[in-house]
Amino acid sequence: MRKRILVTGGAGFIGSHLCERLLNDGNEVISLDNYFTGSKENIFSLLSNPYFESIRHDVTMPYFIEVDEIYNLACPASPIHYQYNAIKTIKTSVMGAINMLGLAKRLNVKILQASTSEVYGDPHIHPQQETYWGNVNPIGIRSCYDEGKRCAETLFMDYHRMNDVQIKVIRIFNTYGPKMNPNDGRVVSNFIVQALKGQDITLYGDGSQTRSFQYVDDLIEGIIKMMASSKEITGPINIGNPNEFSILELAQKIIYLTNSKSKIIFLPLPSDDPKQRQPDISIAKTELNWEPNIQLIEGLEKTISYFKNL
Ligand code: NAD
Ligand code: UDP
Repeated sequence: MRKRILVTGGAGFIGSHLCERLLNDGNEVISLDNYFTGSKENIFSLLSNPYFESIRHDVTMPYFIEVDEIYNLACPASPIHYQYNAIKTIKTSVMGAINMLGLAKRLNVKILQASTSEVYGDPHIHPQQETYWGNVNPIGIRSCYDEGKRCAETLFMDYHRMNDVQIKVIRIFNTYGPKMNPNDGRVVSNFIVQALKGQDITLYGDGSQTRSFQYVDDLIEGIIKMMASSKEITGPINIGNPNEFSILELAQKIIYLTNSKSKIIFLPLPSDDPKQRQPDISIAKTELNWEPNIQLIEGLEKTISYFKNL
């Protein structure tokens, strides 16, 4: 049966992939976005679909609509963008969650929250399991994002406990792929754009910090499986690719794959930059029957070819 589905942040990198997938699955999709970091180009190909609607709206303001499911993705995700207006970022996470949870409660519909591995901060437990409470600086430059997302998780759990709202919370680990904004500032898009243009590769710190990179198609599959899971599965559940790489290794792989003459330059490491990040995905495997299929080289090749064609 065709569902009407609301996607906040639908014009963003992940949101636009999700809208496309939901439409392909035969649903009606409404994207709600203020276009802060998202763009109309991301959803351009969807606009001619009569089952797709794009609405300019800021999730810090309430919004009323009749839908069957809500995916709450609205929030800038790149450090340079979420630090640009830190107060706005935390408002987006917290007030956006309150507004969308209120809507889900009134409509009695399922709501999925795009949470993040940032709730683990600079983790002391490795790999990170969902039971780990994290090591987050509450007053640093990343706090507007990390604490906003942590507070949103609290709100989701409390709406569930107090009002029986059906919630689905996923903690997304570093995701990359086509439709990332070339000026997004995140590491994969930065390095690919720099390598293709023959510019210096800007490595922050000595490059020994690690991340585990997930290709966007794998994430979308995980999001869909989470929303379809049985009522008692609320999460939080980690969705990420456990293959961990140092940022220096990532730079070298991108230089090799683009056949670039770019040189790596070392710049200061921003404060509170997590030293390591790797998801434990045991729960996603057992409860959702999900695991990633696309490994780094294959995913980078697809992403490089997207940026080449821009
Ligand atoms: P993105 O910046 O490309 O997308 C975010 C979207 O939200 C953009 O379209 C932006 O315009 C919109 N938005 C921002 N503030 C808004 C507001 N106040 N009202 C309405 N719309 C607003 O980032 P993304 O990578 O697609 O991330 C999507 C979600 O996934 C975010 O919630 C992010 O925190 C989460 N996430 C992403 C990653 C990742 O690696 N990409 C990792 C963990 C979590
Ligand atoms: N990074 C880097 N050069 C860049 C952008 C990022 O070395 O041009 C580093 C950054 O310091 C961090 C890692 O790459 O250690 C991942 O950064 P990103 O902003 O993509 O994600 P996050 O830190 O939120 O995981």
